[in-house]
Amino acid sequence: MSKNIYVIVEQRDGKMLKVGLELLSEAKKLAAELGQSVVGVLMGDKVKDLGNDLFKYGADEVVYVEDPILKEYVTEPYTKALTKVIQDEDPEIVLYGATSIGRDLAPRVASRIHTGLTADCTKLTIEMDKKTNQKLLMMTRPAFGGNIMATIVCRQYRPQMATVRPGVMELIEDASAKVGNIREIKVDFVDADMNIKIKEIIKEEHKATDITEAKILVSGGRGIGSPEYYDTLSELADLLGGEISSSRANVDAGWIAKDRQVGQTGKTVRPDLYLACGISGAIQHLAGMEGSDCIIAINKNDTAPIFDVSDLGIVGDIKQVMPKLIEAVRKYKEEQAV
Ligand SMILES: Cc1cc2nc3c(=O)[nH]c(=O)nc-3n(C[C@H](O)[C@H](O)[C@H](O)COP(=O)(O)OP(=O)(O)OC[C@H]3O[C@@H](n4cnc5c(N)ncnc54)[C@H](O)[C@@H]3O)c2cc1C
Repeated sequence: MSKNIYVIVEQRDGKMLKVGLELLSEAKKLAAELGQSVVGVLMGDKVKDLGNDLFKYGADEVVYVEDPILKEYVTEPYTKALTKVIQDEDPEIVLYGATSIGRDLAPRVASRIHTGLTADCTKLTIEMDKKTNQKLLMMTRPAFGGNIMATIVCRQYRPQMATVRPGVMELIEDASAKVGNIREIKVDFVDADMNIKIKEIIKEEHKATDITEAKILVSGGRGIGSPEYYDTLSELADLLGGEISSSRANVDAGWIAKDRQVGQTGKTVRPDLYLACGISGAIQHLAGMEGSDCIIAINKNDTAPIFDVSDLGIVGDIKQVMPKLIEAVRKYKEEQAV
């Protein structure tokens, strides 16, 4: 009988991706509902030792597939490895990060083992399904251009599988967590499993800021009026030790780079403070920032939906509020310095 929640923890050059750890934390909550365990899955060349780090994020056990053929990600051998893990272990649920690798691997495996897959989930819960009288994974994701949230269930096939984008689930670390078993799953690879030849790997120099790592985000929407106003937002962000980010409207208008976009088609962020400046609060934007610890909105329209998710709201023109805010923060910092 299918059992346990398996989480694919991706690694690149021996460094684990945070999304896999976030999913372990989420899986722990889901597993408690099911009365089952969480199993972290590692694949690569020499990945066994990484397993020790998974327990504090929620894994009860770790399985790994190790082989030189898995040194770099290639669809075919990774699909073979994970298909074997699923066939041997018969999981109830498998979760993947919606990274470029997860998006490639998950559908391939779904097709090979003949089960469903729900991509880019924003919420996962376990609920009793009245039709089957079983506890099932409810996989919620935006649908129809983000205008509705659809909850999808996989009743007939196992495992139930979902991908979740980085930053959507909260990472919970428990240094005192019990250390579990680390088991190898043997896969017999043959030369024919490697159907491409990697001639050279050229790593792209990526200097872009990762807004998902920022503790404070000063985010600008169409209401800031011009691309130049990001300089003013940057001034505040610098004073607070944060970064600037944006709604999609301004990215589409070419006012700011795409890697600063927050939302359904941008990045999911969870800073300590999210300051939304002239952002209306469309559902697609909220999908990317609702998990922030504290949300402060500045908007001249007191009915703007952003106020519904804000801890604090300032109704007013950004051009009048922002200079006063910058002044107040600067004064406070000067006072603290003496
Ligand atoms: C499939 C799909 C995916 C999408 N993905 C994303 C996404 O990832 N991220 C995203 O952000 N959007 C996304 N969108 C777009 C989204 O629906 C909204 O159009 C967008 O978020 C609006 O951006 P905005 O809030 O900056 O602009 P607007 O909706 O135009 O809001 C501007 C706000 O500024 C206020 N304002 C105006 N002037 C001032 C002023 N002087 N002072 C103070 N306030 C002022 C206004 O009252 C208003 O509330 C997506 C849409 C679709 C269909």
